[in-house]
Amino acid sequence: MPLKFRLRGLAETFVEGICCPSCHNEGGEGGEQGFATDLTKVTYDGIVVVVRCEICGHVFVPENQKFGIVNSSRLRKAVEKDSQNTGQPIFPDIKSVRLEVERLNAGRQHGDH
Ligand SMILES: [Zn+2]
Repeated sequence: MPLKFRLRGLAETFVEGICCPSCHNEGGEGGEQGFATDLTKVTYDGIVVVVRCEICGHVFVPENQKFGIVNSSRLRKAVEKDSQNTGQPIFPDIKSVRLEVERLNAGRQHGDH
């Protein structure tokens, strides 16, 4: 079952299905069991869905995402405003999100010791 992530009037992203590359959790019948998506980032390229597997703790960016941008100038403003409000850095594109995800996984493995 495809999952849909939407910011009204700004952007939307469809994910065809999620499978954890670490423990191969496929989300059960609903397709999203055992997954948390609170790390999802909004970028200038659209909503980049970031999934955290609640079974093994692995964080990953699902490969099969379809990005749709409804209004790119409003999306850009929303990304900048959000960064100002939260103090978090701007993630301009999916590449920067992937780097952040690698960093999260590296930090987690380090913390296990
Ligand atoms: Zn997993």
